[in-house]
Amino acid sequence: MADKSFNAFKMAQQQFDGVAEQLGLDPGTRDLLRNPLREYHFSIPVKMDDGTVKVFQGFRVQHNDSRGPCKGGIRFHPQETIDTVKALATWMTWKCAVVDIPLGGGKGGVICDPHNLSMREQEQICRGWVRQVVRNVGPLQDVPAPDVMTNAQHMIWMMDEYEKLTGAKYPGFITGKPVGMGGSLGRTEATGFGVIYTLREALSELGIEIKNTSAAFQGFGNVSQYAVRLYQEYGGKAVCVSCWDQKDNKSYTFIKKSGIDLDELLGITDKFGGIDKAKAKGLGYEVADAEAWIGQDVDILVPAALENQINAETVQKISAKMKVVAEGANGPTTPEADEVFKKKNIFVIPDFLANAGGVTCSYFEQVQCNMNYFWTKEEVLSKLDNVMTAAFHAVYGLAKQKKAFMRDAAYMIAVARVAEACRLRGWV
Ligand code: NAD
Repeated sequence: MADKSFNAFKMAQQQFDGVAEQLGLDPGTRDLLRNPLREYHFSIPVKMDDGTVKVFQGFRVQHNDSRGPCKGGIRFHPQETIDTVKALATWMTWKCAVVDIPLGGGKGGVICDPHNLSMREQEQICRGWVRQVVRNVGPLQDVPAPDVMTNAQHMIWMMDEYEKLTGAKYPGFITGKPVGMGGSLGRTEATGFGVIYTLREALSELGIEIKNTSAAFQGFGNVSQYAVRLYQEYGGKAVCVSCWDQKDNKSYTFIKKSGIDLDELLGITDKFGGIDKAKAKGLGYEVADAEAWIGQDVDILVPAALENQINAETVQKISAKMKVVAEGANGPTTPEADEVFKKKNIFVIPDFLANAGGVTCSYFEQVQCNMNYFWTKEEVLSKLDNVMTAAFHAVYGLAKQKKAFMRDAAYMIAVARVAEACRLRGWV
């Protein structure tokens, strides 16, 4: 969102320009892919609880739909900007392409602060957003989802408005709905499990037995918790997690070198996701500062909290033993830290591959909704494993063939797939 010194869309374009150069894309294809196909800007008038009318600014960006309907979340944020939405839509195109699901990239937003809006006012924004783009979105055109400050309730209101306007039931219009109202089993686990499916494949390629490894996790939210669970089920030793402490306004790392107990930690976690420090100490955990996770003497790092966590400064703390980074979070590693990883020959599973389990399961939600037939959790997770494993091997194969860094190989695969779809359609 709006940070005056940083323009996310410029960054997305720079990344694309680098890959386009490596792939030798022709000028027409470059022009097409470095900008969104369509951008909608609209006003959403809302009658507020005090009787006044306030007009909110809404957006939907469809970056590229050559491989299938666009897919991407809608965020509500007071500092939302069109350039952020454009960048996120672009990244969604590459993320869907790298895991080879038949979807394009989209993203939406509304400039508003839900913390200062009643539920009724938020409902009016959701319904107004759908009314403005109803002809341009839908299960076969563009499928929204939750993002920052939007949740399953917002999705249900949007689905209801879409169905009212179109006169039929279209649960596949939107994803992120609760199970029982068109949501998919396995969505909660999907991102964290997906990270570990790709890690499992990486270790196998590197000739390392997962049960002989140890890992440090940053974060203790949705992604980290399920990543720790599956990693431990596979026999790995997770030595720490970290989380934000609401009261102290800082984060801490909770370390147990013999291996953390996930359920024990969940039992002493409050509703904001913070772990009780005194209770953790009582259970034998060392409570260390925020950055302690990165310096652990482990084989694997799993950043699963925020962006910009492994940077020029923090990367100096990694242990000599470290071999693999599996990026659960979006954008956790800066280009400077990437350079250090390249020099030290550390294997990186890049974010838009490692954490694509979430969007893959959202795609499964859409497929199940369109069929109006829902799969068991086992079926969802086994399909997810197949997609993530195949995606990992496609990227790994190219990285080996071209002697490229995994992040570059992932971008090359994604951009080449989208460029090829545009070519086959005769767009370029
Ligand atoms: P979450 O809100 O459930 O958890 C975030 C965790 O990070 C919390 O435990 C929080 O306490 C911790 N945290 C916050 N600030 C911290 C700090 N400074 N140091 C250490 N820990 C800190 O979020 P999530 O859904 O688990 O998402 C985590 C990351 O994964 C984000 O970058 C998100 O964009 C990305 N991601 C999530 C999904 C998904 O399906 N949930 C999909 C793709 C990518």
